[in-house]
Amino acid sequence: MDFTFKCNHCHQELEVDIAAAGTSVECPACNRKINIPVPEASQIHVAPHGANAANDPNREEKHFVVPIHEGPAEALIKKAAPTLEVAAKDPDKKIRVWTLRRVDTMSVNKDNFDEVASAFLQKVGQEYVISVSPLTYTYRDLATGTWITDYGIMVVFRG
Ligand SMILES: [Zn+2]
Repeated sequence: MDFTFKCNHCHQELEVDIAAAGTSVECPACNRKINIPVPEASQIHVAPHGANAANDPNREEKHFVVPIHEGPAEALIKKAAPTLEVAAKDPDKKIRVWTLRRVDTMSVNKDNFDEVASAFLQKVGQEYVISVSPLTYTYRDLATGTWITDYGIMVVFRG
């Protein structure tokens, strides 16, 4: 689920997945550090994530350990801002943020993270991808009640 907010430095409107709420990123427009706000409770309509997974006896119960970086994550891919030519061609395209959590790509015993991420980047198109950054998040495993730290990526793109 996405929601929009404005950069508190340059007021660029940004669209971001709810999963990234409360984390901080570099604003794709002004490159300054911004904290993604947590939307009002009334705005959130989160699917009961993991509700079905908890009942699935084949559910993978591994605990994932990933490094947690202090401070802003380094972008894996940094591209120059789109040329004026590209911007003029697509005046309706807004800067958007898309986050992908690995847990959301897992089917029974299989991790589809790479496939899902690749398919998304393919769909957006290389010229519209501004940056791809790693992110970490924690979620509560309903089967064991423990908090699990896992990884994902955040893609900033025009679309
Ligand atoms: Zn900004």
